[in-house]
Amino acid sequence: MIRFDNVSMRYPGGHEALSRVSFSLERGEMAFLTGHSGAGKSTLLKLIMLMERASQGQVFVGDQNLNRMAVDQIPFLRRKIGVVFQNHQLLFDRSVFDNIALPLQISGYEKSSIGRRVRAALDKVGLLNKEKLNPILLSTGEQQRIGLARAIVNKPQVLLADEPTGNLDPQLSAEVMGLFHQFNQVGVTVLVASHDLDLISRMPHRCLTLQQGRLADA
Ligand code: ADP
Ligand code: ADP
Repeated sequence: MIRFDNVSMRYPGGHEALSRVSFSLERGEMAFLTGHSGAGKSTLLKLIMLMERASQGQVFVGDQNLNRMAVDQIPFLRRKIGVVFQNHQLLFDRSVFDNIALPLQISGYEKSSIGRRVRAALDKVGLLNKEKLNPILLSTGEQQRIGLARAIVNKPQVLLADEPTGNLDPQLSAEVMGLFHQFNQVGVTVLVASHDLDLISRMPHRCLTLQQGRLADA
């Protein structure tokens, strides 16, 4: 589902953030991406979403070579990919429901189908009773679960997360990771960047480790 073939990435004026990275993640697989701050985790995720382009090598998502993808195709790529950030990036000027509905509205779904899908997403993260609230009233763990609901509401084939448990205590972290695991169990390909090695070691998934932009041997 995701394949990196000798990928290097250099930011303008910077040093190499990724050096000759090769790996593949099968459809329906889940893996973690670890490494110290600055190791290149966010950069790797950005290449998958085409928020950055590789300086060298090839990145594939599904059967698409992202190097050859035209700018007008990028929105279609992004619809295949749900993303969860550490600081959830929820909007506090609207309800939980409206936050989760946003990606569907952008994609032009009909109103009735938006309601159905938003509630299905809320149900999956266990927060069905919170739809009318402003997310500012929720706990950090609940906010992160709302961010996850927003990421999966349009049923993406791929789910990416950048330090999704970075602001959570160990118990809430385990709950949120458990949700990623659940989405993987129903067929979503999942890649989670995290430096919570303790939590990762307790989960049955492969771990890709970046060291200064290079993928360490497993
Ligand atoms: P993290 O370690 O969680 O990736 P950072 O604080 O390193 O967080 O980066 C936060 C954001 O700033 C990211 O989007 C990253 O790409 C960007 N960033 C990091 N380093 C630089 C830099 N030297 N110049 C410009 N942007 C940067
Ligand atoms: P991580 O997510 O593992 O913390 P990043 O991918 O954010 O690592 O960063 C990898 C390297 O690339 C770091 O040295 C960082 O400073 C640099 N970097 C990240 N984003 C940018 C950017 N937009 N411009 C310049 N350098 C960047």
